[in-house]
Amino acid sequence: MKAFYADEQKRHDPKGFLSSGAPKPNPEQPERVERLLAGARAAGCEIVRPREHGLGPIAAVHTPEYLDFLEHIHARWQRIAEASEEVIPNIHPIARGGSYPASAVGQAGYHMADTSCPISAETWESSLWSAWSAVEAAEAVLSGEPAAYALCRPPGHHAFADVAGGFCFINNSAVAAQRLRKTAARVAILDVDLHHGNGTQGIFYARPDVLTVSIHADPVRFYPFFWGHADERGEGPGLGYNLNLPLARKSADAEFLAALDKGLQRIRAFAPEALVVALGLDAFEGDPFGGLSVTTQGFARIAEAVAGLGLPTVIVQEGGYLCDALSDNLTSFLAGFGGAHRLAAG
Ligand SMILES: [Zn+2]
Repeated sequence: MKAFYADEQKRHDPKGFLSSGAPKPNPEQPERVERLLAGARAAGCEIVRPREHGLGPIAAVHTPEYLDFLEHIHARWQRIAEASEEVIPNIHPIARGGSYPASAVGQAGYHMADTSCPISAETWESSLWSAWSAVEAAEAVLSGEPAAYALCRPPGHHAFADVAGGFCFINNSAVAAQRLRKTAARVAILDVDLHHGNGTQGIFYARPDVLTVSIHADPVRFYPFFWGHADERGEGPGLGYNLNLPLARKSADAEFLAALDKGLQRIRAFAPEALVVALGLDAFEGDPFGGLSVTTQGFARIAEAVAGLGLPTVIVQEGGYLCDALSDNLTSFLAGFGGAHRLAAG
């Protein structure tokens, strides 16, 4: 399987965020890239640099207002007297509507959901290349590769059409799914990250052509709190095209695989022509977030079950933070997927 990644993705280097109000080091570190590259190589992946794809495939799922903000906000922020080095919001509209703020501080609050996605001078470029890795993986699958892996960093699944959040700026999984829609009439996104894929859900919430399924720690007491509950089923023409499968904290392999069964059943009934897996590895028992208790071997079993769909598949990296097994968890998933997918797609 090819793995797409560009070194520019390592330049974004966020310093901190607030966790329950306390300043903490930001866990979405560039070092993640080294661990994930090692894991992909150990699974036999060939690492390939993506081409540049411009803004087109990104603007297909994000608003122009938001993309203009992401590109220029850091330079604008530096012109504010005594502003922080990184762009971090400190005021948010409690509801959208009303007028769009003209100021940098107002727009930061409008377009950034929380403090975990600070924007530095490098963020825009890193995010573009991360998205282009997803586009390139989708292109590979469109040209006949059975599966491809996009080592997307920064991750993307918490980014809405016009809001950054949860370490995410451009929604790489949504970009890949939209790209696959060039030829696939229906695309499913299966999100197995520890956290609910709220941005992805939001982008496709009113659409019946992209089914979104997410398995995650129950947001009743976990990020992203406001989304990820089982009663969120889509709206308008998209009603019935979103499935959330929240799990109790510390759920392990057996519970995860049981939820996955339900998710796969829904995906089969949707009869998609292509699949995007939003691959977070932070459901791992040793991940610093500590929300679920999936094992390294569990990732192989998840991968085998997903590969059983036999669909052309783009695997997009989402979360998964620094811990001893991060490389091994990726290897476990990709190797497990590759073997089972060859049999299923046979
Ligand atoms: Zn996550």
